[in-house]
Amino acid sequence: MGLAIPGSLTPSKVAAFKDCALAFRFSVIDRLPEPPSTQAFKGTVVHRALELLMWEQPQGRRTLAAALANLDRAFAELVTGPEGSALGLEGDAEFIEDAYELVRNYFVLEDPDSVRVIGTELLMQADIGFRPGLRDGSDQGTRPPPEATLRLRGIIDRLELDDDGELVVTDYKTGRAPGEAQEQARLGGVHFYAFLCDKVLGRRPVRVQLLHLREPTAIGAVPSDQSIAGLELQATAIWDAIRRACYFEDFRPKPGPVCDRCGFHAYCPAVGGNISLVPAAQAAAQGPFACGPSEAVPLDVRAPRLPLVAAW
Ligand code: SF4
Repeated sequence: MGLAIPGSLTPSKVAAFKDCALAFRFSVIDRLPEPPSTQAFKGTVVHRALELLMWEQPQGRRTLAAALANLDRAFAELVTGPEGSALGLEGDAEFIEDAYELVRNYFVLEDPDSVRVIGTELLMQADIGFRPGLRDGSDQGTRPPPEATLRLRGIIDRLELDDDGELVVTDYKTGRAPGEAQEQARLGGVHFYAFLCDKVLGRRPVRVQLLHLREPTAIGAVPSDQSIAGLELQATAIWDAIRRACYFEDFRPKPGPVCDRCGFHAYCPAVGGNISLVPAAQAAAQGPFACGPSEAVPLDVRAPRLPLVAAW
């Protein structure tokens, strides 16, 4: 019968599937809740503080003092929410001091007064034609039936204009920067965003960059015809693999360093867990595959202050 296929592909789903297909299944297909993470919550608070810095202070007034005040405000906003409450971080001086450090490091990477921001936390989605591998019937019985489209979605941390009025995509990272060997792989997420800009806005960014606030260090790349085409190929290959895994209910564990931050040990046979403990109702709640025929999906702006088109 198979498992319900997810409705869309995002950079985080791509990364999760590549890291460990079984953890991907638990999270995306079965929708098992994961324990709240202090690290992830800190990332949310810092992202919110930097978003406030871009919108609450005009260029010329984006000082470190203003950014730290925004951090206090972001923390106060979020710490009483479900995740903050579950973590019990109210009044945690060590947490706040470390978050301050990340914001200070941001100022080492760039001068925020130089940023001509046109959008933050932008949700974009685009449907692309999906051509599953073999079509000659030789794979009959080994592949699920084809679907017409693949929906790609992503939330861009920050979209801005450079001095020439060209688009630049910026993604903040609050965890450790990757080693040199993984650098290109980690840029996959921002190339994904460049692809979405190209499809949705009809303009390819001239630069994508990751700002790693912990080190601090910046990693950038220039999207090209090749990277855009490669992203589409990679996305369809991953989607094909996910669809097959759902069809055959075959998501394999991939034990490794990723297990240290995995919240599904109780269900994972690779680390002594029991997969039969996965509640059946969770999987049933997923619903059917959600991608319909290709349709024009406009930019969904989550920041209501965004003067996106007017700024061009
Ligand atoms: S414990 Fe490791 S192998 Fe098992 S699901 Fe989690 S990441 Fe995958």
